[in-house]
Amino acid sequence: MNDSMKKRLSLVVSVYNEEEALEQFFQEADRILRKVFWDYELIFVNDGSQDRSLEILNHLAEADEHVKIVSFSKNFGHEAAMIAGIDYSTGDGIICMDADLQHPPECILEIIEKFEEGYQVVNMVRTKNESAGWFKNMASSAFYKLINVLSDVKFESNASDFFAISRKVADVLKHDYREKVRFLRGYVQNVGFPKTTIKYEACPRVAGESKYSIRKLFKFSVNTIVCFSNLPLKMGVFAGIFAAALGIIVLVYTLLTRGGAPSGYATIVILNCFMFAILFLIVGIIGEYIAILFAELKDRPIYIVEETKNI
Ligand code: UDP
Ligand code: MG
Repeated sequence: MNDSMKKRLSLVVSVYNEEEALEQFFQEADRILRKVFWDYELIFVNDGSQDRSLEILNHLAEADEHVKIVSFSKNFGHEAAMIAGIDYSTGDGIICMDADLQHPPECILEIIEKFEEGYQVVNMVRTKNESAGWFKNMASSAFYKLINVLSDVKFESNASDFFAISRKVADVLKHDYREKVRFLRGYVQNVGFPKTTIKYEACPRVAGESKYSIRKLFKFSVNTIVCFSNLPLKMGVFAGIFAAALGIIVLVYTLLTRGGAPSGYATIVILNCFMFAILFLIVGIIGEYIAILFAELKDRPIYIVEETKNI
Protein backbone atom coordinates (compact mmCIF):
# COMPACT_ATOMS: atom_id res chain seq x y z
CA MET A 1 0.00 0.00 0.00
CA ASN A 2 1.09 3.52 -0.77
CA ASP A 3 2.39 5.39 2.29
CA SER A 4 -0.02 8.27 1.89
CA MET A 5 -2.93 5.83 2.07
CA LYS A 6 -1.73 4.42 5.33
CA LYS A 7 -3.85 5.28 8.30
CA ARG A 8 -2.24 7.27 11.03
CA LEU A 9 -2.23 6.74 14.76
CA SER A 10 -1.69 9.52 17.30
CA LEU A 11 -0.50 8.42 20.69
CA VAL A 12 -1.12 11.19 23.23
CA VAL A 13 0.91 10.99 26.42
CA SER A 14 0.62 13.46 29.27
CA VAL A 15 3.81 14.11 31.15
CA TYR A 16 4.22 15.76 34.51
CA ASN A 17 7.54 15.26 36.25
CA GLU A 18 8.13 11.85 34.71
CA GLU A 19 11.92 12.03 34.22
CA GLU A 20 12.33 8.59 35.76
CA ALA A 21 9.76 6.87 33.60
CA LEU A 22 10.02 8.64 30.25
CA GLU A 23 12.87 6.80 28.56
CA GLN A 24 11.51 3.42 29.50
CA PHE A 25 8.06 4.47 28.34
CA PHE A 26 9.43 5.62 25.01
CA GLN A 27 11.32 2.38 24.44
CA GLU A 28 8.28 0.25 25.18
CA ALA A 29 5.90 2.38 23.15
CA ASP A 30 8.33 2.67 20.26
CA ARG A 31 8.82 -1.11 20.17
CA ILE A 32 5.08 -1.64 19.85
CA LEU A 33 4.45 1.24 17.45
CA ARG A 34 7.03 -0.13 15.02
CA LYS A 35 5.01 -3.33 14.79
CA VAL A 36 1.87 -1.45 13.88
CA PHE A 37 0.88 -1.29 10.25
CA TRP A 38 -0.35 2.28 10.63
CA ASP A 39 1.80 5.35 10.37
CA TYR A 40 2.12 7.04 13.77
CA GLU A 41 2.99 10.11 15.79
CA LEU A 42 3.83 10.22 19.47
CA ILE A 43 2.59 13.43 21.03
CA PHE A 44 4.04 14.15 24.43
CA VAL A 45 2.28 16.93 26.27
CA ASN A 46 4.57 18.39 28.89
CA ASP A 47 2.27 19.66 31.60
CA GLY A 48 4.66 22.15 33.18
CA SER A 49 7.12 19.62 34.53
CA GLN A 50 9.71 21.06 36.88
CA ASP A 51 12.16 18.20 36.49
CA ARG A 52 14.21 17.07 33.47
CA SER A 53 11.18 15.71 31.58
CA LEU A 54 11.26 18.40 28.87
CA GLU A 55 14.98 17.95 28.34
CA ILE A 56 14.51 14.20 27.87
CA LEU A 57 11.60 14.81 25.52
CA ASN A 58 13.67 17.24 23.46
CA HIS A 59 16.36 14.58 23.04
CA LEU A 60 13.77 12.04 21.97
CA ALA A 61 12.24 14.49 19.50
CA GLU A 62 15.60 15.30 17.97
CA ALA A 63 16.38 11.64 17.42
CA ASP A 64 12.98 10.59 16.11
CA GLU A 65 10.65 12.76 14.08
CA HIS A 66 7.64 10.70 15.11
CA VAL A 67 8.03 12.31 18.52
CA LYS A 68 6.21 15.62 18.87
CA ILE A 69 6.11 17.88 21.89
CA VAL A 70 3.52 20.31 23.11
CA SER A 71 4.85 22.07 26.17
CA PHE A 72 2.64 24.06 28.53
CA SER A 73 3.63 27.30 30.22
CA LYS A 74 2.73 25.80 33.61
CA ASN A 75 0.93 22.84 35.12
CA PHE A 76 -2.65 22.75 33.86
CA GLY A 77 -3.54 19.23 34.93
CA HIS A 78 -3.82 15.84 33.34
CA GLU A 79 -7.10 16.48 31.54
CA ALA A 80 -5.89 19.73 30.01
CA ALA A 81 -2.85 17.83 28.76
CA MET A 82 -5.00 15.14 27.14
CA ILE A 83 -7.21 17.79 25.56
CA ALA A 84 -4.17 19.57 24.12
CA GLY A 85 -2.86 16.28 22.76
CA ILE A 86 -6.19 15.61 21.07
CA ASP A 87 -6.27 19.17 19.68
CA TYR A 88 -2.83 18.82 18.13
CA SER A 89 -3.28 15.25 16.90
CA THR A 90 -3.57 14.56 13.20
CA GLY A 91 -4.23 10.82 13.27
CA ASP A 92 -7.26 8.82 12.12
CA GLY A 93 -7.18 7.18 15.53
CA ILE A 94 -6.04 8.74 18.78
CA ILE A 95 -4.98 6.91 21.94
CA CYS A 96 -4.52 8.72 25.26
CA MET A 97 -2.30 7.06 27.82
CA ASP A 98 -0.14 7.79 30.84
CA ALA A 99 3.63 8.03 30.76
CA ASP A 100 4.21 5.77 33.74
CA LEU A 101 3.56 2.46 31.91
CA GLN A 102 0.49 1.76 34.04
CA HIS A 103 -1.29 1.56 30.73
CA PRO A 104 0.47 -1.25 28.86
CA PRO A 105 1.57 -0.20 25.35
CA GLU A 106 0.84 -3.78 24.17
CA CYS A 107 -2.83 -2.78 24.18
CA ILE A 108 -2.15 -0.50 21.21
CA LEU A 109 -2.24 -3.52 18.90
CA GLU A 110 -5.66 -4.57 20.17
CA ILE A 111 -6.96 -1.01 19.91
CA ILE A 112 -5.87 -0.78 16.27
CA GLU A 113 -7.77 -4.00 15.57
CA LYS A 114 -10.89 -2.42 17.05
CA PHE A 115 -10.39 0.69 14.91
CA GLU A 116 -10.07 -1.53 11.85
CA GLU A 117 -13.34 -3.21 12.82
CA GLY A 118 -15.00 0.22 12.68
CA TYR A 119 -15.27 1.15 16.34
CA GLN A 120 -14.91 4.85 17.06
CA VAL A 121 -14.54 4.78 20.83
CA VAL A 122 -12.51 2.21 22.71
CA ASN A 123 -12.83 2.33 26.49
CA MET A 124 -10.03 0.66 28.34
CA VAL A 125 -11.33 -0.87 31.54
CA ARG A 126 -8.86 -1.90 34.21
CA THR A 127 -9.43 -5.26 35.80
CA LYS A 128 -7.31 -4.56 38.83
CA ASN A 129 -5.21 -1.79 40.15
CA GLU A 130 -3.12 -3.07 42.99
CA SER A 131 -0.76 -0.16 43.03
CA ALA A 132 -3.51 2.34 43.81
CA GLY A 133 -4.07 0.95 47.31
CA TRP A 134 -7.36 -0.07 48.89
CA PHE A 135 -8.41 3.44 49.80
CA LYS A 136 -8.17 4.81 46.26
CA ASN A 137 -9.85 1.70 44.83
CA MET A 138 -12.71 1.92 47.30
CA ALA A 139 -13.13 5.65 46.84
CA SER A 140 -13.12 5.20 43.08
CA SER A 141 -15.85 2.55 43.14
CA ALA A 142 -17.95 4.61 45.59
CA PHE A 143 -17.54 7.61 43.32
CA TYR A 144 -18.78 5.75 40.25
CA LYS A 145 -21.79 4.39 42.18
CA LEU A 146 -22.68 7.89 43.34
CA ILE A 147 -22.32 9.59 39.99
CA ASN A 148 -24.40 6.86 38.31
CA VAL A 149 -27.19 7.45 40.81
CA LEU A 150 -27.01 11.22 40.50
CA SER A 151 -26.61 11.60 36.78
CA ASP A 152 -28.73 10.62 33.78
CA VAL A 153 -25.53 9.87 31.97
CA LYS A 154 -24.15 6.42 32.67
CA PHE A 155 -20.51 5.90 33.50
CA GLU A 156 -18.52 2.76 33.14
CA SER A 157 -16.92 2.06 36.50
CA ASN A 158 -13.19 1.47 36.41
CA ALA A 159 -12.90 3.39 33.18
CA SER A 160 -9.48 4.98 33.15
CA ASP A 161 -7.73 7.84 31.46
CA PHE A 162 -6.67 5.24 28.95
CA PHE A 163 -8.96 5.41 25.94
CA ALA A 164 -8.94 5.58 22.19
CA ILE A 165 -11.09 7.64 19.87
CA SER A 166 -11.46 8.09 16.13
CA ARG A 167 -10.83 11.33 14.26
CA LYS A 168 -14.57 12.03 14.19
CA VAL A 169 -14.87 11.79 17.97
CA ALA A 170 -11.70 13.84 18.42
CA ASP A 171 -13.20 16.58 16.26
CA VAL A 172 -16.37 16.58 18.36
CA LEU A 173 -14.27 16.91 21.53
CA LYS A 174 -12.12 19.57 19.95
CA HIS A 175 -14.97 21.77 18.79
CA ASP A 176 -17.93 21.09 21.01
CA TYR A 177 -16.65 20.10 24.44
CA ARG A 178 -14.62 23.04 25.58
CA GLU A 179 -15.89 23.29 29.13
CA LYS A 180 -13.41 24.67 31.62
CA VAL A 181 -14.49 22.33 34.38
CA ARG A 182 -14.97 18.91 32.89
CA PHE A 183 -14.61 15.18 33.04
CA LEU A 184 -13.06 14.05 29.80
CA ARG A 185 -13.66 10.35 30.43
CA GLY A 186 -17.33 11.12 30.90
CA TYR A 187 -17.54 12.83 27.52
CA VAL A 188 -15.72 10.03 25.78
CA GLN A 189 -18.20 7.53 27.16
CA ASN A 190 -21.19 9.62 26.27
CA VAL A 191 -20.67 11.07 22.81
CA GLY A 192 -22.28 8.02 21.26
CA PHE A 193 -20.71 6.39 18.14
CA PRO A 194 -19.90 2.66 17.90
CA LYS A 195 -18.13 1.87 21.11
CA THR A 196 -16.35 -1.09 22.62
CA THR A 197 -14.29 -1.92 25.67
CA ILE A 198 -11.03 -3.73 26.16
CA LYS A 199 -9.98 -5.06 29.54
CA TYR A 200 -6.45 -4.51 30.70
CA GLU A 201 -4.51 -5.06 33.84
CA ALA A 202 -3.13 -1.87 35.33
CA CYS A 203 0.51 -2.40 36.17
CA PRO A 204 2.33 -0.66 38.98
CA ARG A 205 4.00 2.62 38.08
CA VAL A 206 7.50 1.94 36.65
CA ALA A 207 9.09 4.84 38.47
CA GLY A 208 8.29 8.01 40.33
CA GLU A 209 5.08 8.44 42.24
CA SER A 210 1.43 9.22 41.60
CA LYS A 211 0.77 12.87 40.85
CA TYR A 212 -2.80 12.66 42.07
CA SER A 213 -3.17 13.49 45.73
CA ILE A 214 -6.33 12.54 47.63
CA ARG A 215 -7.18 16.25 47.74
CA LYS A 216 -6.95 16.58 43.95
CA LEU A 217 -9.10 13.48 43.53
CA PHE A 218 -11.73 14.87 45.90
CA LYS A 219 -11.91 18.18 44.06
CA PHE A 220 -12.10 16.28 40.81
CA SER A 221 -15.01 14.15 42.10
CA VAL A 222 -16.98 17.17 43.28
CA ASN A 223 -16.47 18.90 39.93
CA THR A 224 -17.58 15.83 38.04
CA ILE A 225 -20.77 15.49 40.02
CA VAL A 226 -21.53 19.17 39.55
CA CYS A 227 -20.81 18.93 35.81
CA PHE A 228 -22.93 15.90 35.16
CA SER A 229 -25.84 16.27 37.55
CA ASN A 230 -28.27 18.96 38.61
CA LEU A 231 -29.70 16.79 41.34
CA PRO A 232 -27.71 18.30 44.23
CA LEU A 233 -29.15 21.70 43.26
CA LYS A 234 -32.61 20.33 43.73
CA MET A 235 -31.82 19.05 47.20
CA GLY A 236 -33.06 22.40 48.51
CA VAL A 237 -36.59 21.52 47.44
CA PHE A 238 -36.49 18.19 49.25
CA ALA A 239 -35.00 19.78 52.36
CA GLY A 240 -37.72 22.44 52.23
CA ILE A 241 -40.46 19.81 52.06
CA PHE A 242 -38.82 17.89 54.88
CA ALA A 243 -38.58 21.00 57.09
CA ALA A 244 -42.19 21.90 56.36
CA ALA A 245 -43.38 18.40 57.27
CA LEU A 246 -41.36 18.48 60.46
CA GLY A 247 -42.86 21.88 61.30
CA ILE A 248 -46.39 20.56 60.84
CA ILE A 249 -45.71 17.53 63.01
CA VAL A 250 -44.29 19.71 65.79
CA LEU A 251 -47.20 22.12 65.41
CA VAL A 252 -49.78 19.35 65.76
CA TYR A 253 -47.89 17.85 68.69
CA THR A 254 -47.71 21.22 70.44
CA LEU A 255 -51.41 21.89 69.93
CA LEU A 256 -52.38 18.46 71.22
CA THR A 257 -50.19 18.68 74.32
CA ARG A 258 -50.86 22.34 74.92
CA GLY A 259 -51.77 22.07 78.58
CA GLY A 260 -48.53 20.56 79.75
CA ALA A 261 -46.23 21.67 76.96
CA PRO A 262 -42.58 20.77 77.73
CA SER A 263 -40.09 23.58 78.14
CA GLY A 264 -38.46 22.40 74.88
CA TYR A 265 -35.05 24.04 75.28
CA ALA A 266 -33.12 21.08 73.91
CA THR A 267 -35.58 20.60 71.07
CA ILE A 268 -35.18 24.18 69.96
CA VAL A 269 -31.40 24.10 70.04
CA ILE A 270 -31.19 20.78 68.19
CA LEU A 271 -33.72 21.81 65.59
CA ASN A 272 -31.94 25.11 65.08
CA CYS A 273 -28.57 23.46 64.52
CA PHE A 274 -30.07 20.83 62.27
CA MET A 275 -31.95 23.30 60.12
CA PHE A 276 -28.99 25.62 59.79
CA ALA A 277 -26.82 22.66 58.85
CA ILE A 278 -29.16 21.79 55.99
CA LEU A 279 -29.38 25.41 54.96
CA PHE A 280 -25.63 25.97 54.84
CA LEU A 281 -25.10 22.69 53.07
CA ILE A 282 -27.46 23.78 50.33
CA VAL A 283 -25.88 27.21 50.12
CA GLY A 284 -22.52 25.44 49.75
CA ILE A 285 -23.86 23.26 46.96
CA ILE A 286 -25.23 26.28 45.13
CA GLY A 287 -21.81 27.86 45.64
CA GLU A 288 -20.15 24.95 43.83
CA TYR A 289 -22.40 25.46 40.84
CA ILE A 290 -21.87 29.21 40.83
CA ALA A 291 -18.10 28.69 40.96
CA ILE A 292 -18.34 26.56 37.84
CA LEU A 293 -20.62 29.03 36.10
CA PHE A 294 -18.11 31.74 36.95
CA ALA A 295 -15.22 29.72 35.56
CA GLU A 296 -17.12 29.13 32.31
CA LEU A 297 -18.06 32.79 32.09
CA LYS A 298 -14.49 33.99 32.47
CA ASP A 299 -13.64 31.74 29.55
CA ARG A 300 -9.97 31.47 30.37
CA PRO A 301 -7.94 29.07 28.25
CA ILE A 302 -7.89 25.39 29.18
CA TYR A 303 -4.14 25.40 28.59
CA ILE A 304 -1.42 27.74 27.35
CA VAL A 305 1.29 26.37 25.08
CA GLU A 306 4.78 27.75 25.55
CA GLU A 307 6.52 25.83 22.79
CA THR A 308 6.08 22.93 20.41
CA LYS A 309 8.49 20.67 18.60
CA ASN A 310 8.10 18.66 15.37
CA ILE A 311 4.49 19.84 15.10
N1 UDP B 1 -0.17 14.12 34.84
C1 UDP B 1 -0.23 15.33 34.18
N2 UDP B 1 -0.51 16.46 34.90
C2 UDP B 1 -0.78 16.42 36.24
C3 UDP B 1 -0.76 15.17 36.89
C4 UDP B 1 -0.45 14.04 36.16
O1 UDP B 1 0.01 15.40 32.97
O2 UDP B 1 -1.03 17.48 36.81
C5 UDP B 1 0.16 12.90 34.06
C6 UDP B 1 1.25 12.03 34.67
O3 UDP B 1 2.53 12.42 34.20
C7 UDP B 1 0.86 10.66 34.15
C8 UDP B 1 -0.64 10.74 34.08
O4 UDP B 1 -0.98 12.11 34.04
O5 UDP B 1 1.37 10.40 32.85
C9 UDP B 1 -1.33 10.05 35.25
O6 UDP B 1 -0.83 10.54 36.44
P1 UDP B 1 -0.49 9.60 37.67
O7 UDP B 1 0.21 8.37 37.19
O8 UDP B 1 0.24 10.42 38.67
O9 UDP B 1 -1.93 9.23 38.20
P2 UDP B 1 -2.46 7.80 38.69
O10 UDP B 1 -2.05 6.80 37.64
O11 UDP B 1 -1.82 7.57 39.98
O12 UDP B 1 -3.94 7.98 38.77
MG1 MG C 1 -0.26 6.47 36.93
